[in-house]
Amino acid sequence: MDISIIGSGYVGLVTGACFADVGHNVICIDNDAQKIKTLQAGRVPIYEPGLEEIIHRNVSAHRLRFSGSIKEGVDNSQIVFIAVPTPQQANGDVDLSFIEKVSREIAGVLTSYRVIVDKSTVPVKTGERVAESIKRYNRHGAKFDVVSNPEFLREGCAVADLMHPDRIVIGAQSDHAADLMKKVYEPFMAPILVTDINSAELIKHAANSFLALKISYVNALSGICEASGADIEKVADGIGMDRRIGRQFLNAGIGYGGSCFPKDVAAFITISEQLGTPFGLLKEVQRINAAQKERFLKKIRETLWVLREKTIAVWGLTFKPDTDDIRSSVAIDLVADMLREGAHVVAHDPKGMEKAREVKAIADAKFAASALEAVAGAEALVIATEWSEFGNVDLAVVKEQMRTPIVFDGRNLFDPGTMSQLGFSYHSIGRSSIRPH
Ligand code: NAD
Repeated sequence: MDISIIGSGYVGLVTGACFADVGHNVICIDNDAQKIKTLQAGRVPIYEPGLEEIIHRNVSAHRLRFSGSIKEGVDNSQIVFIAVPTPQQANGDVDLSFIEKVSREIAGVLTSYRVIVDKSTVPVKTGERVAESIKRYNRHGAKFDVVSNPEFLREGCAVADLMHPDRIVIGAQSDHAADLMKKVYEPFMAPILVTDINSAELIKHAANSFLALKISYVNALSGICEASGADIEKVADGIGMDRRIGRQFLNAGIGYGGSCFPKDVAAFITISEQLGTPFGLLKEVQRINAAQKERFLKKIRETLWVLREKTIAVWGLTFKPDTDDIRSSVAIDLVADMLREGAHVVAHDPKGMEKAREVKAIADAKFAASALEAVAGAEALVIATEWSEFGNVDLAVVKEQMRTPIVFDGRNLFDPGTMSQLGFSYHSIGRSSIRPH
């Protein structure tokens, strides 16, 4: 099928590449001229495992191309996806101006029937507004259908998630549009759930809020474990082995971040309030998430006594491993907090340093070329993102390199027994601290 995708970021670009890889003809569009130039020159502006290879393969096969023109996309495709940002505004509302602008632009160049698919995460009832807007600016009176098709990919494994989705949600008002959408997804052989548009939109916010809730649940439990001498890893295993609960998203840590969970939970709270059915439970999810980072900082302060003039190594800056995305990363917030208290921070991240260097709040941080270089002379090591390569670093060498071997493991990457044997002072989440005699 002929498909265009407006917005070539973490969602649009990966979706476009995967659609091309299963045989569709895809045009990825963006209004960031530099991004389009980069893509046309054969370079990939984001890091996502496997993405570069798929893009190159499909560009060579002439199934994937890049353009700055919405008209080119709309003219040459039956289905037009929208994957632009939907950031949070200061008052908690979702900023829908990107969606509204693209809707107007599509309407202006619409000359015959198209399916306009919203893939961005939007408040329930946005599809209705998109349809109204397209109708209003539709100069040629062309027929169209609006569809909601929320995206559930996880950064860091976005290609795998797109190629093997748990489910495809299609919110459509006409059978014809739903049938065309089923054709798009046929090659993926995934279960397809067809709903009305409002339900599809709601599913996305409900799913992300539930996952955030699961994380906050285990994080709240981690505090109880610390206070009672229990071990959160064992507790999470014990409850996660129940198939009704499941072990995924039960990893205690310093809280969720990233470009989706914080904004989607905030948006769902606002939406529920606007609908007159406030979702108070989600406010508690937010409170626990914020408290988790503060509790971790408190541990660092209590152990180091004073942060001023202490050299602290930080492993991890991205909001999760296997991505270069640092948007709303708790790791970045932690670094900013420690810098504010006068610490000297030396950070290392396998993929996130280029973007982190641009963040004003951590302008005073230094960046090290490797995890080992970061710990040289450090008085403490903070593990903020669980990149697997950190798990493979020789801890005996780490201990030798550090000035004082104190580790604050915000992602429970290491085993307390091993850290104790190696002679570290080791503090993690929801497990007893280890202090060498
Ligand atoms: P992103 O910022 O990485 O990409 C958005 C792209 O849209 C950018 O390249 C931007 O230049 C482009 N854009 C903005 N306005 C445009 C316009 N008028 N015309 C053409 N292009 C325009 O954002 P993202 O992470 O891909 O997220 C997009 C949407 O998908 C959001 O609603 C997000 O909540 C949702 N989502 C994101 C993820 C994720 O993991 N990143 C997962 C599921 C859903």
